Amino acid sequence: MKDQTVCVCPPEISHEGFASLATPTYRASTIAFENSAAYASRAERGDKGYVYGLHGTPTTRTLEAAISALEGAKYTMVQPSGQAAISLVFLALLKPGDTVLVPDCAYPPVSTLCNGYLAERGIAHRVYDPLIGADIASMLDDSVKLVWVESPGSATMEVQDLPAIAGAARARGIPVAIDNTWASPLHFKPLNFGADIVVEALTKYFAGHSDLLMGSVSVNDDALHAKLKSTLHMLGIGVSPDDCTLVLRGMETMAVRLKHGSAVALDFATRMAKKMDPKRVLHPALSSHPQHEMWKRDFAGASALFSIVVPADNASELNSLIDQAKTFSIGASWGGTHSLMVPMAIGEMRQFAGNAPDGLVLRLSIGMEDPEDLWADLEPIVEMVARHG
Ligand SMILES: *Cc1c(COP(=O)(O)O)cnc(C)c1O
Repeated sequence: MKDQTVCVCPPEISHEGFASLATPTYRASTIAFENSAAYASRAERGDKGYVYGLHGTPTTRTLEAAISALEGAKYTMVQPSGQAAISLVFLALLKPGDTVLVPDCAYPPVSTLCNGYLAERGIAHRVYDPLIGADIASMLDDSVKLVWVESPGSATMEVQDLPAIAGAARARGIPVAIDNTWASPLHFKPLNFGADIVVEALTKYFAGHSDLLMGSVSVNDDALHAKLKSTLHMLGIGVSPDDCTLVLRGMETMAVRLKHGSAVALDFATRMAKKMDPKRVLHPALSSHPQHEMWKRDFAGASALFSIVVPADNASELNSLIDQAKTFSIGASWGGTHSLMVPMAIGEMRQFAGNAPDGLVLRLSIGMEDPEDLWADLEPIVEMVARHG
């Protein structure tokens, strides 16, 4: 071999005995075939085979298999963000003339997708009260081709009755998809409670370090999987194996991070509910939460994300206290090692009263810092709310 070729094709070295505990990062666009006949018949390799880097490498598939195992799913597909995972489900299942039902408490970019891209293409959506339960049956007609669920609801923490909603939808053969990012499959496994599709923003607890974006869609049904997979292929959506390696690394500590963060978050929420009107503390593991019993029935644990409702007239005081926080950072996303706070004007976005009829919602994501430092930032906010009612 000439030098120039050696530069492109280094000598093969042995992997024998290389028992690393880490998942190797396999990068690829091209997959090389042993001969032209193998290339010609590549489609026969099926979904589990390797034909092109976009459609999976051993690294991406290791991550997908791990998520499937946690969700109790047969199939998982990863996407470049949680929002991409959500969009994939909508785009794969809906066509012009169809309707999707979306809860009022959904992650806000879901409504942007519905009001914009989908509406422009003749796909309708109807917003439902997250507390609707089995009454969703009255909204199901022949045009409804997907019921979207997010539980607990973004920022306002309404716990949805997934078994009741899924029961009503199943009776009419309509698939139910749920955004399970808050609990993660460690604390809730929606496929065991009637959901057909579960979406996770891996950006949050799975990755866990605020340094990458990824999403996943998991299903059990073969036909649903085929529909989602072919949509991914057509749109050319895949993820970087390097990012998958980072998510796999994050997952190794996910259970311990979630356990710590949820314990501190519940302790803070409990202290807050003693100092202020407990209705202002939106945390489903508190017995004062309106859907606490339903949460206990379905969930194995809580998240490290919860909110408090601050009176609207305290907005400027709240903002200055947030600005003085020393340990919390201000910003979107959550589920990382750094604690975050973000004030949200939720009332303006909602059609139903839900759990937060008025005021500003301050969403808190508890990370891995010392709880005393975090409480020092929260205490003045708690005192302000307690003082003003
Ligand atoms: C963050 C989030 C998403 C979107 O995830 P990205 O990876 O940031 O796109 C979706 N759903 C919920 C509930 C989220 O909190």
